[in-house]
Amino acid sequence: MTNKLQWIQDELQNLKQGGLYNNIRTLGSPQGAWLIVDGRRALNFCSNNYLGLANHPRVTAAAQQAIDRYGVGPAAVRSIAGTMELHVELERRLAQFKGVEAAITFQSGFTANLATVPAVVGKDDAVFSDELNHASIIDGCRLSGARIIRYAHCDPQDLERVLKENRSQFPRAIVITDGVFSMDGDVAPLDQIYAVSQNYEAILMVDDAHGEGVLGHGGRGIVDHFSLHGKVDIEIGTLSKAFGVVGGVVAGSPVIVEWLRQRGRPFLFSSAMTVPDVAACLAAVDLLEESTSLVDKLWDNARYFKAEMKRLGFDTGVSTTPITPVMLGEAPLAQQFSRELFEYGVFAMALGFPTVPRGKARIRVMISAAHERADLDQGLEAFARVGRKLGVIR
Ligand SMILES: *Cc1c(COP(=O)(O)O)cnc(C)c1O
Repeated sequence: MTNKLQWIQDELQNLKQGGLYNNIRTLGSPQGAWLIVDGRRALNFCSNNYLGLANHPRVTAAAQQAIDRYGVGPAAVRSIAGTMELHVELERRLAQFKGVEAAITFQSGFTANLATVPAVVGKDDAVFSDELNHASIIDGCRLSGARIIRYAHCDPQDLERVLKENRSQFPRAIVITDGVFSMDGDVAPLDQIYAVSQNYEAILMVDDAHGEGVLGHGGRGIVDHFSLHGKVDIEIGTLSKAFGVVGGVVAGSPVIVEWLRQRGRPFLFSSAMTVPDVAACLAAVDLLEESTSLVDKLWDNARYFKAEMKRLGFDTGVSTTPITPVMLGEAPLAQQFSRELFEYGVFAMALGFPTVPRGKARIRVMISAAHERADLDQGLEAFARVGRKLGVIR
């Protein structure tokens, strides 16, 4: 008898040998600047909790109150069992926050992408996609059956080249880019991408997962950052990063939102966000609309940390956002670096292939408004020690 699953054992073994096996740590505390990681207190440099909202007292209180009033679950898909007023309210508030006419929520950013691309383009059409777009965009594009034409990362000239070559063969075309690229922390030149898309009559879609709550006035996102209000057709967002909860959102014109209510498969065939999720997100929108202080603190922290890391001699790549990659090269070095940091009480994950290209392994430090200056200093001290020990800096 052959073991039909033996190949998986072999592949897992290969991952371990290549330093590419993902060891998932267990957390015994809420999100915040410090965590209990595998039973030990550690400084949190891993999470996308940019504004510290995942455990903010107003956000958690809102979730608790909503449970008392509405229970926990939506009980079925919205298109069949009806939609709760809470979801409608969140969609209205998110649209207002983003300065668009309409919004629709999904279970996650991932499903928002899976819903949207196939609803807008089909097998006769084309997607023009940044080569480093997020996995959920790639999967959405594949599900659509449209021809996928990639352009060089953040390169409007190359986008223009592929549009010129191919656009006329397809009735419909969509240009899709991440807003902030999560591995490098660089920002798509959305103003130029908009101009090119416009010339070729292509729908423009941006996935602002790492830009919401981070870029733009008070965290209103990449469209606000570039003052492109009313020009970007489809904005995808997640409620799991800066918003600190879970869920996805598509924001744009009423016609897009109405269409997704009719044709977005994860909307039609999967239940909605739960009651506490929605209520928590509503509280997060309140906080963001009341004050820019959390967003300001996030950026102050990010600027400080990055400048100090550079002063220590680390290569922090091309990031222009709070995402701070620490470039190390080979995956085993990055993994060892991460383990040594943990010994100093710092939780920062190594990222290797296939999350990033081979030879570009790194530690990615996620800065948050939850960090105080003393926390960052403690983290810098640990990076300095491990960096010297492993010969990364002098
Ligand atoms: C994180 C991320 C997603 C997925 O968001 P979830 O809400 O966690 O599913 C989608 N797109 C991009 C660009 C992301 O960074």
